[in-house]
Amino acid sequence: MLEVITVPAFSDNYIWLIRKPDQPYVAIVDPGDAEPVLRVLQKESLIPVAILITHHHSDHIGGVRRLLSEHDNLPVYGPLKESIPNITHPLTGGEQIALDKLDAKFTVLDVPGHTAGHLAYYGHGLLFCGDTLFTAGCGRLFEGTAEQMTNSLEKIAALPDETLVYCAHEYTLDNLVFAKTAEPNNHDLDMRIEESHRLRNQDTPTVPSTLLLEKKTNPFLRYHLPNVTSAIEQFAGKQLNSNSERFAAIRYWKDTLD
Ligand SMILES: [Zn+2]
Repeated sequence: MLEVITVPAFSDNYIWLIRKPDQPYVAIVDPGDAEPVLRVLQKESLIPVAILITHHHSDHIGGVRRLLSEHDNLPVYGPLKESIPNITHPLTGGEQIALDKLDAKFTVLDVPGHTAGHLAYYGHGLLFCGDTLFTAGCGRLFEGTAEQMTNSLEKIAALPDETLVYCAHEYTLDNLVFAKTAEPNNHDLDMRIEESHRLRNQDTPTVPSTLLLEKKTNPFLRYHLPNVTSAIEQFAGKQLNSNSERFAAIRYWKDTLD
């Protein structure tokens, strides 16, 4: 069992610290800002042993240099296909990385779409997926194609239902507004909306969620279902014949409302 410490950063980012219980060692996922991470390390007497990067956006890598200046020789894992300074272990997906101090192994998933080389890290029932799958939503297509993102989301959907989804932003409430537009009669969605409001009213993160909850309520994992497909087709004004066409149309639909 691993535990995950939540480090809020900027207005809505989460930086994750993966820890073996009762041990001081942590791996840091997507440190966009060093300050909040250094504060938690000091307060909890934690020792970083690795940095895992999902993609090159500055709110995911901005703190790397500062962390390395305080903790030299930290291995930094990240995408080979993206231009990121200080990566010591470039990855393309398909690898297994061993974090010995945590007794942990993570499988690296190649999940392009939001960016060209976006990676996710999966192991011990935990998924760190950056800006690919969000709680009740998914990342925007900045560099990849709809077909790539469709494959990436389907790759994630194939993981076990109980997988805990650690995405990098607190976007749940906003995403649920669109989810309800796309699927007004989904009862699971109504329950999720109520629960998410309850959590946010207490200033509690809605992340992580489970992959099962995403499959029940996230329209970006549901575009293949008949009722969602027909809502997307109504928006698009035409028949959509593949999952990547359905994904492209529902992504565009949400973009028009954001
Ligand atoms: Zn991003």
